Amino acid sequence: MTGITHRMYLDSFDDAYATTFAAKVMEVDGVNVVLDQTRFYPTGGGQPCDIGHLEGPTGTLHVSDVRGRDAVMHTLPEDHNLEVGQEISGTIDWDRRYAHMRMHTAQHLLSGLAYDLFDGARTVGNQIGAHKSRLDLRPATLTEEELNLIRQAFDAAVAEDVPLSMSVANRQTLIDEVGAERSNVDMIPATVQDMRIIRIGDRIDVCPCAGTHVRSLGEIGPLGEVHVKSKGKGTKRFAYTLDGNSL
Ligand SMILES: [Zn+2]
Repeated sequence: MTGITHRMYLDSFDDAYATTFAAKVMEVDGVNVVLDQTRFYPTGGGQPCDIGHLEGPTGTLHVSDVRGRDAVMHTLPEDHNLEVGQEISGTIDWDRRYAHMRMHTAQHLLSGLAYDLFDGARTVGNQIGAHKSRLDLRPATLTEEELNLIRQAFDAAVAEDVPLSMSVANRQTLIDEVGAERSNVDMIPATVQDMRIIRIGDRIDVCPCAGTHVRSLGEIGPLGEVHVKSKGKGTKRFAYTLDGNSL
């Protein structure tokens, strides 16, 4: 797979909310088809892929998996019969995408708050899900008192409906503004100079991210159930839901 797919969901907040698109088949490798552009999010950065369907000259085809960062591969049924150059229209499963957008933005909010409230606790891992998500914080203790504190701060920011913004920033600019640790920029290979920055409010959270996010925190709603478990060496795994769902 050599071509580069234009990942349309990265372009703007509006694009993260768009569900349909037209595209051309660039490459076919068995069940995997690369398109010249796509709204399907490929699994990565802790966020699972979108699923949905493609409509083309060979009928309606279910997209069951999406992978790759440059050439984005859409996994189709074996008898898809698509060929290079054919035009298709695609539709993503909106409920699943929107759940991931809300959960992913909630993760950024929790990461930013944890760093500020818990003396530089860093997010060292994350896994977004439509129903439940988690982040790993280090160093962190996460006492009952601290959990109450972060819940209050989370719900207050949501009640204020704080807006998000995106920009492209140079590595050094980001380090100068918020620091390498706070932005997690030190986790990104040094060869990457310009990156897409997702910002909550002025500086509640500022970090490089290629995921999909909501326009403002009001869309997330209050924090749901929370569960903490120890992962050793001062690392705590913080699991959470939204919409009052149980874990
Ligand atoms: Zn992110």
